Amino acid sequence: MRCPFCGEQDTKVIDSRLITDGDQVRRRRQCQACEERFTTFESAELVMPKLIKSDGTRVPFDEQKLTSGMQRALEKRPVSVEDVEASIHKIQAKLRATGEREIKSRLVGELVMDELRKLDQVAYVRFASVYRQFQDIEEFSKEIDRMRHHAPQDTSPQDSLKKDPPNLNTAPKHREPSS
Ligand SMILES: [Zn+2]
Repeated sequence: MRCPFCGEQDTKVIDSRLITDGDQVRRRRQCQACEERFTTFESAELVMPKLIKSDGTRVPFDEQKLTSGMQRALEKRPVSVEDVEASIHKIQAKLRATGEREIKSRLVGELVMDELRKLDQVAYVRFASVYRQFQDIEEFSKEIDRMRHHAPQDTSPQDSLKKDPPNLNTAPKHREPSS
């Protein structure tokens, strides 16, 4: 950001905060040359950080991918569209609030898990169990598709885990006396 006083290109952000309900960021900047301070307003789209994937590649944030990932997890669950939209809005506001230009994509997944946990426990478990293997929302959606298209007798390890959950209520029949 060029200094409006002396034209110097090298200016430093000294404060950054969300305004207008998280849709804009107000930044206080200081010129490195003349030390004048000024304020900039940046709209949400411009400050949404890029995502650093686990292989190191950078991709633009994609609201559509976030939304479809959330919707897959919440499929057939009793959660209103308004609540889902509010959660997506919250996730994006948190990403902007980092003030970073790039963030690890796994942070998005963690924020999604936080929101799903609040929305619906089943959707949360559904998402978390698959997501932890992939660390990527896009992969999560693909995996859900694969699972759906598989015939019921085609049991992957994940499927068999679901059919035979460890029975936590079964107490051991015999208990050795603790001599
Ligand atoms: Zn200046």
